[in-house]
Amino acid sequence: MNRYNLTSDQIPTAWFNALPALVEPLLPPLHPGTQEPVGPDDLSPLFPMGLIAQEMSPELWIDIPGEVLDILRLWRPTPLVRAERLERALGTPARIYYKDESVSPAGSHKTNTAVPQAFYNQAEGIKRIATETGAGQWGTALSFASRQFDLDCKVYMVRASYEQKPYRKILMETWGSEVVASPVDQPDHPGSLGLAISDAVRDAGGRDDTHYALGSVLNHVLLHQTVIGLEAKDQLALAGEARPDVVIGCCGGGSSLGGIALPFMADAAVRLVAVEPSSCPTLTEGTFEYDFGDTAGLTPLLAMYTLGHDFVPPSIHAGGLRYHGDSPIISNLVKSGRMEAIAYPQGKTFEAAVQFANTEGKLPAPETGHAIRAVIDEALAAKELGEERVILFNYSGHGFLDLSAYDDYLNGRLIDA
Ligand SMILES: *Cc1c(COP(=O)(O)O)cnc(C)c1O
Repeated sequence: MNRYNLTSDQIPTAWFNALPALVEPLLPPLHPGTQEPVGPDDLSPLFPMGLIAQEMSPELWIDIPGEVLDILRLWRPTPLVRAERLERALGTPARIYYKDESVSPAGSHKTNTAVPQAFYNQAEGIKRIATETGAGQWGTALSFASRQFDLDCKVYMVRASYEQKPYRKILMETWGSEVVASPVDQPDHPGSLGLAISDAVRDAGGRDDTHYALGSVLNHVLLHQTVIGLEAKDQLALAGEARPDVVIGCCGGGSSLGGIALPFMADAAVRLVAVEPSSCPTLTEGTFEYDFGDTAGLTPLLAMYTLGHDFVPPSIHAGGLRYHGDSPIISNLVKSGRMEAIAYPQGKTFEAAVQFANTEGKLPAPETGHAIRAVIDEALAAKELGEERVILFNYSGHGFLDLSAYDDYLNGRLIDA
């Protein structure tokens, strides 16, 4: 047996909130104008009170609304799979397990937070959501979720992706969203995530019927993603494992990594590892300080590792990992030494992704390839030491809409940044 499935009534019914469990408390977000700590009223033009409360909640567990569970059950609980064929190819005594988040409607973990975000907005009378998307994964997830709750959704898509990667735009439009290229006021600019966030925040700030939604970074987003790690805990027990020795995830804004890792953080015997691209090395080479979440400086200042809010990363294929900052919770764990961080150039991550496709059969998203690179290196280190290491990683998404990236890799056109 190599797949460990839970039935739909075994879905977690509460999210795990890391905030009260952090050894060093988080520094508060600051108002972009006054530089004073923000209160709920500062955030209410952009977010519903239900999410603002979660952003600051001292409760360790927060119940998942029934309406949200009903939609999550379309694909959750997701499978936990033991990657035995990869283990055999590597000749490692390590046991490798992956949590398969690629089975969601949009093909990644991002729907886990898109659904509750749409729910809380609709519950408070909001009619329309504005958001940004890089390569399109967050935009597709929020488009799906908005449709479930009859919300209009406007997506500001980084222009370079808008022009080069039409398929996610078509998926967003199929789910009823309006998609425009960003930056809207500079038609010759290729765009960046930071600029697209500025566009979406401006849109939401200017209309009473509209809120903003962010697909990563914020505390409530990581909270919603903890269903991943909570399910994985139960599934590892089914597999006869007491605990993982190491939990690995790729890290863009840190939400999927937080989702799988935070439920294990209290157990000091479990190592937690963040994997990022060498070309956007926020955790490994950035500085820990207050910085804006966007380029224009419209968002609150967050205490996080950052490369600077005007940093524009090179256009690697893992679009979801091209963000100048990082989640305050993940930054806190790295700063305190609870979590490790490593960076890889993209060539090595595609090599790992192709090895995974050839052994396990599944074609990972380029972001996920970063986690797989670290998993393979971890398994090879275990082989070197003759250790039966238990490795758990987050298979954050599939790569079916990233085939041009594989085409570049297979034909030697990949820039090895
Ligand atoms: C967006 C995305 C990521 C990175 O975002 P996080 O918030 O760091 O999880 C990773 N993998 C996939 C497939 C994504 O779509």
